[in-house]
Amino acid sequence: MTIAIIGGGIGGLAVAAGLHKIGIKAHVFEQAQSFKPLGAGIGIGSNAMLALDRIGIADGVIKSGMPLHEQRFLNGELDVMNRIDFSRLKQKFGEETLTIHRADLHEALFHAVDPAHFHFDSQVTDFVQHANHVTLTFQDNVTRHFDYVIAADGIHSIFRQTLVPGSEPRYAGYTCWRGITENKGDVPLHISSEAWSKYGRFGWAPLYGGDVYWFACVNAAENDAYYAKLDKNGAARLFAHFSPEVERLISESKDAYFLHHDLYDIKPLDSFVYDRIILLGDAAHAATPNMGQGAGQAIEDAYELMRAIDQEPSMEAALARYETKRVRKTNKVIKLSRQIGWAAQWQNPLLIGFRNTVFPLVPKSLLFWRLTFLFK
Ligand SMILES: Cc1cc2nc3c(=O)[nH]c(=O)nc-3n(C[C@H](O)[C@H](O)[C@H](O)COP(=O)(O)OP(=O)(O)OC[C@H]3O[C@@H](n4cnc5c(N)ncnc54)[C@H](O)[C@@H]3O)c2cc1C
Repeated sequence: MTIAIIGGGIGGLAVAAGLHKIGIKAHVFEQAQSFKPLGAGIGIGSNAMLALDRIGIADGVIKSGMPLHEQRFLNGELDVMNRIDFSRLKQKFGEETLTIHRADLHEALFHAVDPAHFHFDSQVTDFVQHANHVTLTFQDNVTRHFDYVIAADGIHSIFRQTLVPGSEPRYAGYTCWRGITENKGDVPLHISSEAWSKYGRFGWAPLYGGDVYWFACVNAAENDAYYAKLDKNGAARLFAHFSPEVERLISESKDAYFLHHDLYDIKPLDSFVYDRIILLGDAAHAATPNMGQGAGQAIEDAYELMRAIDQEPSMEAALARYETKRVRKTNKVIKLSRQIGWAAQWQNPLLIGFRNTVFPLVPKSLLFWRLTFLFK
């Protein structure tokens, strides 16, 4: 059986590693010419760590990760409103929740893939499905044929947007900066935090090796020209109302990791399998990053697809099982992430007053319970 994976992001690499583990050497086609510094940091939930462990690549990630014991939610004055106990997740499910430099995560995944089957500078520009195979066309007009294609080509997936009309990304209503900055002792180890104010949201988490990963979001029109132009000092001024430490984290960001993007998700899909094309990762279920689960869900896709292909008697049965395992769960992540972002970005003082009064009263056990569906 021949399989092509389109996209060498977290999802594409994880599924290539998983298939490699069960003896299938899929070809990965990535449009970039090389891996560049890939964004800033990323949180990997313990559910995704479980999947990485079962694919056999958790060790490389743990080595470069910073274990988190707690997530704190703060108000605009940086008073703690509530917490999620990640240590309890570890006790119950056996794996840490981590933060990691994206480049380190990528490297750990890339290590588990056969380099002879990884093709840079290979952009798929078109595809045609036939009864027994799929024909891919690349940017240089070369065509290649595969029995199955795993489309891990991200939120702007040409496969999804061709197979599911109307599935283009939806703007979430807020724009976001991200960065990595040296930890000068002002960010405690093992705790991630997120502060919600009338003027925007700021989140930060320690990284292994003495850095801090941070993100900052404000409500904005899509492609807002003013925000697009802001440099790190300009962005720092926007969030200085939180504290001098927050202003420092933004203004002292390392240049290569200071990033700005509008945020999007996609409307949940009913299906991830379209005959011989299988959607995976953001191509299938891009969510807003409010639960820190996008990459984690891509990794779970990879694990479930690997297991289904390994254990089911036919590819048809494996793909049916993949859909059963993945569609409902990832749809829930898209919806819950969008709801969290909606409440975290409130600007109306009445709504904020309500949120800041009620949220601290929500029992920690309930917040914990809301996450347990990720482990089912
Ligand atoms: C601000 C922000 C913060 C986030 N924080 C977190 C977090 O803390 N935790 C978490 O789990 N997730 C987080 N996410 C989500 C996470 O980044 C994504 O869910 C994850 O990267 C998706 O991986 P993917 O492989 O599916 O897609 P991508 O990473 O988008 O990879 C797709 C790959 O396909 C390639 N490609 C695209 N089209 C083609 C083509 N036609 N031919 C060949 N190659 C192609 C691209 O070059 C790319 O390398 C965050 C996202 C954002 C925006």
